[in-house]
Amino acid sequence: MSLQSAAQEEGAPERASWLPFARRLEGQGLELRRTGITTLQINVGRLCNQTCRHCHLEAGPDRPEIMDGETMAAVMAYAATARVDVCDITGGAPELVPGIEELVAGLVQPGRQLLFRTNLTLITEPGGRPLLDLLRRLQVALVASFPSTDPGQTASLRGRGVWERSLAALAALNRLGYGQEDTGLTLNLVVNPAGAFLPPGQEQAQRQFRRVLASRWGIRFNRLFTFANAPLGRFRSWLKSSGNLERYQGRLAACFNPCTLDGLMCRTLVSVGWHGQLADCDFNLAAGLTWEAGRLRVQDLATLPLAGRPIAVGDHCYACTAGAGFT
Ligand code: SF4
Repeated sequence: MSLQSAAQEEGAPERASWLPFARRLEGQGLELRRTGITTLQINVGRLCNQTCRHCHLEAGPDRPEIMDGETMAAVMAYAATARVDVCDITGGAPELVPGIEELVAGLVQPGRQLLFRTNLTLITEPGGRPLLDLLRRLQVALVASFPSTDPGQTASLRGRGVWERSLAALAALNRLGYGQEDTGLTLNLVVNPAGAFLPPGQEQAQRQFRRVLASRWGIRFNRLFTFANAPLGRFRSWLKSSGNLERYQGRLAACFNPCTLDGLMCRTLVSVGWHGQLADCDFNLAAGLTWEAGRLRVQDLATLPLAGRPIAVGDHCYACTAGAGFT
């Protein structure tokens, strides 16, 4: 096999039109370093009831990686000592992980905001009721992925029936007070593009979703965030198999916006993986860019990382720094 075909085989696109992210930063005299840490993001595992095409973690029903009770206890102990302002629980589908209620309750602290990410297809199911009651009681903010107001587009990205179940869940959450004024129950939506293109502007997308969801189905939410898909995991496999990888990376790189660097989440966040491994963000975790190659775990940390610590970067960082960015 020639060198060129070996590179293609491994999915390394030829970089005729774009520089590796690290070299791009270097060439412009830029660097990515931590400032003060405010957020602990906790990825409780790859187990999920869906197999979305854009998933950067390749989460799904057969994934065995989930956080165990011992690691959850270490996360809670670290969060208590580290005194972060925000704890952000993500997955996979966190609803499926045994012990998730204990983790949620254990992360509550006065003055701290708790976020819980949901794909909406489990949270209002009868089996999820105790968890939902707990989240409501503790006023945990829900961050729900709802990619499109178009049922067909959602089906192609996430599977048949997902759109209908997600819409029903949003309506049920509204009835419980989520997304309604003066309840203190926040319901934010996250939108990813359905293919190899950049997301629309956040303000414009928020206006459109607000109008369509309210007028057609009477659904309300607080805020909407648009994110570019990171070329990792299942989305990367799809980009490769559909011949879109180089074009997509090139497009992200062409839209590189250095003004986004100051607001990147990796500057203020520590990401903890399902086995306690640490990373600068969930994308680095997915890419295997963990601290000390995964040997350093949350159990080993007593304090927050110092400001000024360099952040590991990869070409997927172009997804966070394209256009208006991803914060
Ligand atoms: S993927 Fe995004 S958040 Fe993570 S290190 Fe790169 S720029 Fe920062």
